[in-house]
Formats: sequence, C-alpha cells, structure tokens
Amino acid sequence: MGAALKDSSVAVREDRLWQRHADMAKLGGTPKGGVNRQALSAEDAAARNLLMSWAAARGFQTFTDTIGNLFVRRDGADGNAPPVMSGSHMDSQPTGGRFDGMYGVLAAFEALEALEDAGIRTRRPVIAVAWTNEEGSRFQPGAMGSAVFAGHNRLDDMLAVKDWKGVVLKDALDETLKAAPAPLRDGPPGFPVGFYVEAHIEQGPRLEKAERTIGVVTAIQGSRRFIVEIDGEEAHAGTTPRAARKDAFAAATRVAAAMYEATNDRDDALRFTIGRVEVAPGSPNTVPGKATFTIDMRHPSDAVLDVHEKKLRDIVATKAKPCPARIERITNVAPTDFDPKVIDLVRAKARALKLTHMDMPSGAGHDAMHIAKLCPAGMIFVPCERGVSHNESENATPADLAAGARVLVGVLEELANR
Ligand SMILES: [Zn+2]
Repeated sequence: MGAALKDSSVAVREDRLWQRHADMAKLGGTPKGGVNRQALSAEDAAARNLLMSWAAARGFQTFTDTIGNLFVRRDGADGNAPPVMSGSHMDSQPTGGRFDGMYGVLAAFEALEALEDAGIRTRRPVIAVAWTNEEGSRFQPGAMGSAVFAGHNRLDDMLAVKDWKGVVLKDALDETLKAAPAPLRDGPPGFPVGFYVEAHIEQGPRLEKAERTIGVVTAIQGSRRFIVEIDGEEAHAGTTPRAARKDAFAAATRVAAAMYEATNDRDDALRFTIGRVEVAPGSPNTVPGKATFTIDMRHPSDAVLDVHEKKLRDIVATKAKPCPARIERITNVAPTDFDPKVIDLVRAKARALKLTHMDMPSGAGHDAMHIAKLCPAGMIFVPCERGVSHNESENATPADLAAGARVLVGVLEELANR
C-alpha cells in the first residue's frame, strides 16, 4: 500500500458518493425530482435495505436498536473503546429533497469506505448511523431516534405515538424491521459513544452567498414556540360602532405589529415567525370574538431568547386592550453549543484541505443536538443551491458534497485515534 493511499481524505470518491445519492433518490422519488420517503414507510425500509447491502459488500457489520436506528460499524483495533459515530437521517418530508439527512448518512458511509480503501486501522470503531424519524412529519416529535438514544424521550412513549391515519409507531416500526431486517440490539437504545460528528446540507443561503464550501457549525440555535389567544366580543359588522367593539383580530394585528418591531434585531440573528392565525367565528359579517396565533422564535443564545420572551409577554399585556389576551409557551428547546475541540478540528481539517470555510450556527434542529448531550459533538455544513430545503428542488453539487466528506473522514479518523 502506497503512502498516498494512507490519506483517508484522498480516498473519498466524489463519483461514488454522488452515485449513492442518485440510487437512494429513486426510493420514494417524485416526478419533480424530490423524494417522499417518510419515516417507517416502505420507502424507508427500501433505503435501509440498500444501505445494508452496501455495508455487507464492504464487510461492515450492521445492527439496529429498539427504536429502529440503523448502525453500520467498521471495527477498530480496540474492541472496548467507545466508537466514533457519524450520520443523520434517511427519512424525508412528504415533498422533500434528495440531500436533507441522506447526505449525512452517505457522507458517513463514504468515510467508512474511504478508511477501508486507504487501509487505515483506527483505534476506536467508526459507526455510520441513520437515525429513525428525524423529520417528524408523519410521527411527532421529530429527531425521535436520536432523542430516544440520548435518553431525552422514553422509548415506550415514542412507540405509542400515532400518525394522522391512526397507525401506531410500534406497528410501523415492526413492519419496517421485518421488511429490512438487521440484527437487533435488545433493550433500551443508547450505548457509550466517544465522539459524534454530523454532516448536513446547510438548508440556508449563507455559505453560497459567502462563497464558502464548508460550514464549521458552532451551535444549534434554541427555539421557543408560543400560542397567543385574544378574546373579543362577537358583534354585528354593520351596526356596531368602533368604540363599542371588542375586535379580537384588530387587537391581534396591534400585538403582532408590535412583536415584529420588537424582534427586529440589528444583526438579523433572531428568527421570529407567526405561521398560523385563526379567527373565530370566521364569518365575514361578524366582528371576531376570538383570535389565536402561533409564534416560532429562535436564536443561538438562551439569554437573548429570555429577553425577547419578556418583550412578547409585555406586548400581549399592553397592546391587546381592551381585549383580554394570553400568551402561553408550548415548547422550549435550549440551544446546543458544540464541543470546542471538535469545532477546532473541523476548522483545521477544512484549512488543511485548502477549502474555504466559515463558522456558523445552525438555524435548523438536527439529531446532533441530542447526541451532543452524550459526548463531544460537532457538525459540518455544505452549501445547497439558493439555500432551498424541505423542497423537491433541493440541490447540491457533487464537488461540495465530496469536500464535506473529505473533511468528515479526516475528523473521524483523528477522533477515532484519540
Ligand atoms: Zn435533516
């Protein structure tokens, strides 16, 4: 074996990685070029089988756990050392793209193959993982497999979840594992992990705009969801003078306008969205008696979220008058800060490979936010066209995908020898 072959990054093959994306895109492929491969569907099972067939061809072991996470393992020299793990998810949105999640799984698998091709023996085992149900579009919550693995959600609670047709998750999981059988690791999910690194398309426009290839992900921003409820009084639209009205929607517009203003930060880091508005009774000629709307607010800093949550509460208390109004927090997902050593290593590998790069937080949630609770973790982003994701037209270049995989394998190799 020549010296050049000992470099795992050189052993990454752009054509092979691209072809694997094309092969996977056929499973649940849509006429518009996207995929519909929802969690624990027949298409999900087909993707599992394809990944397992590739693993078998390379002599890697595969196994699954009781929430259906799928693991592909390349042994290390020290059988007792906790593995280095990398991966993402193979399920998609109903009108999803070919790269969201799948890239992280295939980049991790490419890393295993590159290590194999380069003839590199690592101290720790290296595992490629496909987490169950990251998208959360069929079964909620999302990032389920990684959440159960990390002990954030209880297995039994998740097995009882139903989709909108009433199918119980446990039944869908049993069917999937029957269609795509892998040796089962019994008992509650979770085992010691040394390090975790997840590759993903950015799902936003920043890398493309800055003309950088590698996003060194420093954090995942926290998110909070709220519901605002405003009570009015139903009245005749033709006869009721303005002074006599308690118009719930008029109050909602004052509240919403003040909130947009209060959340307009100078560095454009705070994300504030009112995504759903309901007005009751919903009659064209009745003054609304009730208005309800949702708020999704995100930022990498919990302290900043605290400040703005207080502003939202003050606005609801003052701007809805004369209508009584309430704001309730529905979810609060804390920000994830990735491990400084892993962040530094990703940056150093990108630099060593002469790839343009930038530090950035992740706007979207990922499986890595749960696994970061278990071990030092990090993420690597690559650009996607116009930042479009959760869309059938999602696209990325073979060169960028391969560049991310080169950084990934270098990072995994180094961590696997620690
Ligand atoms: Zn994803």
